[in-house]
This record gives sequence, structure tokens and C-alpha cells, in this order.
Amino acid sequence: MVVTRPLEGAFPMSSFVSGRHFLQTPGPTNLPDRVLRAMDRNAINHRGPEFGAMGREIIGKLRSVFQTEAATIGIFPASGTGAWESAIANTLVPGDRVLISRTGQFSHLWEQMATRLGLDVLSLETDWRRGADPVAIGEVLQQDRERRIKAVFTVHSETSTSCMTDVGAVREAMNRAGHPALLMVDAISSLGCAEYRQDAWGVDVTIAGSQKGLMVPPGLSFTAISDKALAASRAGGSRRSYWDWEPLVASNKTGFFPYTPAITLLYALNEALDMLAEEGLSTVFARHKRYAQATRLAVAAWGLELQCLDPAAYAPGVTAIRTPEGHSADGLRAVILEKFNMSLGNGLGRIEDRVFRIGHMGDLGVLSFTGTLTGVEMGLRAAGIPHNEGGVQAAMNFLASAAN
Ligand code: PLP
Repeated sequence: MVVTRPLEGAFPMSSFVSGRHFLQTPGPTNLPDRVLRAMDRNAINHRGPEFGAMGREIIGKLRSVFQTEAATIGIFPASGTGAWESAIANTLVPGDRVLISRTGQFSHLWEQMATRLGLDVLSLETDWRRGADPVAIGEVLQQDRERRIKAVFTVHSETSTSCMTDVGAVREAMNRAGHPALLMVDAISSLGCAEYRQDAWGVDVTIAGSQKGLMVPPGLSFTAISDKALAASRAGGSRRSYWDWEPLVASNKTGFFPYTPAITLLYALNEALDMLAEEGLSTVFARHKRYAQATRLAVAAWGLELQCLDPAAYAPGVTAIRTPEGHSADGLRAVILEKFNMSLGNGLGRIEDRVFRIGHMGDLGVLSFTGTLTGVEMGLRAAGIPHNEGGVQAAMNFLASAAN
């Protein structure tokens, strides 16, 4: 049955909202109680032995999430955007050419930053409905006989479109072209949600953030740096100070920081990494995939359209959904926030108001997740968005039968 009538007045508003807010944006994500409790303690001396031991422990635990033994890991007290800038400042100089596939708003922003910092950016345009095309990347690299391209930038999970790029395939394309460019990957919304293989994929610089799959508040960013990228930074890069890898990685090796670290966020990170290890990374990834699949089943039952058109590229941590032509996605989100106390992700850049995004990453149990879909289905009805009923039922049928 197609529902078009809004449920006007069915949910009287009052200034008091009972129950927890549903934070179903694709970052920041819900913080587990254990992580919240881990932060509920005083700061410690960041030059003292207790801090150093914690710092070393954290770097060790991060290795398994990045799946790296070889890389040098650095932690910046900054959001992911800061780590983007550090990757550029440490390895590239103004005038250097870089290749980026514009797969969505975040690759677009990274590209803008590169341009502002004086790089010569070569963009491969996409329709924002699929990941980067490794074949197209390979072709550009093959044609670059003078080896002017110094780095290939890739966003593993484009949070704005919910499309993934096959990083391993990009590396293979680079290898086939025999091209020496550095491979830089933004794994901000994939790390902790999906398989990520720094060493096996030959990634030179990975950039990640704390506030998504890692279940930590915003404010920390991570870089995993290959020996090749580290050597490039030692041999050159741009003028830099705060973003310089050298003092950071030298201190991080011993568990310390060259400046005052975000001590409380590091408590949170330490606990969250323990939680990921206890659940087991493969179980964590399978859980994210299951919720993504259940979301898509709900979307199909609602008769709505996914932003991502390539089934091989569906992201495990977020699903971007298009509202029917003429219906505002922001209006829908506003209704859902007002009536059901749930925040969803908005459409960004050129798909502003055309999509809403359900974040299903991080600390999310099956009942919270089905509650999220219920909020969306009730919201579609309340906002008068044409759709079919039965999305939540389709998701529940799948989840009830899926191996847990
Ligand atoms: N890259 C991706 C894929 C993101 O999803 C985001 C934030 O959502 C960013 C970069 C920017 O990170 P931050 O907001 O932490 O600076």
C-alpha cells in the first residue's frame, strides 16, 4: 500500500523528550557506555610513565585495525581534515600533480584542499553513484610517461554517497602501470567498519578519524605511513610545523606526543579498541554488512532508490537514500528529528536535500538498528513521502534469519 498522508498531530510535541536520542548519522556515532565510562576520570601526566604505557598500548592495538606491521602510526589531536593536510604537507610540494577520483563530497573537499595548498590536481569525475574506477586510474597513470603524478588520492568509503572504492584494485592498477606515485587513502568512515589492509594493499598513507567505526568522540585522527611515504617526507614535502610527521612519530613510538595530547580521548580510544578486539574484527565487519543489507532490503520495500548504483560498492557503515523527485530529504530528516528524536545524515554538496543517510556504524545492536529503521518508516509516513509500507518488516525478516 502506498502511504502519502502525513500523520499530522499523531505525535504531540512537548519540550521534554523521553528516551535516548538516536544518533544515526554516519559519524559521530553512538558512544558505548564502556567508552563513556573510560573517559570519566582525571587527566594524567602526559609526560609520566603511566601515559607512555597507555600510548604504546594504543599504537599496538591500532596496528590490528589497520592490519599493518610495517607502517608507522601517528595520532593527531585533530579531526580527519587535519590528517588530510598532514599527508599533503609531509609528502608533496606546491606544483606536484596528484590524481583524485571525485566520487562524492569528501573526495571533492580533499581535492579542494589540495588545490588550495598549491597542488596541480587531476580529477576523474564520477556521477557520485559508484566508487573510483581503478581501470580509469590505471589508464591515466599509464599515460603519465614523465611520472609527473606524485600521488593518487582515494576515499575508501565515500560517506556522502555510501559508495566504496576497491583500494586493492587501485593498487593493482598502479602496479600494472608500474607507476611510483604514492597511494593515499581516506579510511575515515571505513576503519572499524570494513576490512582494511594497509600492508596487503600497499597503501602509503592512510588517514582515519576517531568518530565513526572506532566509536570514540571526534577529535583524534590517525595516519598509517609506509616506509616509502616516510622516506618521501624526510626527503622533502612542504614547509610544515604542527603537521610534521617527524616529531609526532618519534614521540608516538615511545607512547608520547610532542605536545599536550587529547588524554581523555585516548582513554576512550583504548577502551574502544579493546571492545573491537573482544567482539573480533571479522564479527564487527560482518555485523556492519548485515545492517547495511537489512537497510537496503528496507529501502527496496519502501520503493525508494539507493544513491549507490553499484552493488559491489555498497558501504557497510552508511546508506544514502534518495527521496522521490520533488520531496525534500532535509524536510524528512527534520520531521524525524522533531517527532522521533533521531538524527540522520544529510545530503552533502551536489546531492544536498536529495538524499538522507542512515548511519549504521559503530556501537549498534540489532534492536537499536531496527528501531532506527522504524523511525525512518514512521518519518516517511509523517512527512508525506510516497513509499510502500513493509521496509522494517523486510529488514526484520532478514535479520531474524541471518546467521548472527
Ligand atoms: N573524509 C570522509 C570520508 C569523511 O566521512 C569525513 C567526515 O565525515 C571527512 C573526511 C572529514 O573528517 P573530519 O570531519 O573528521 O575532519
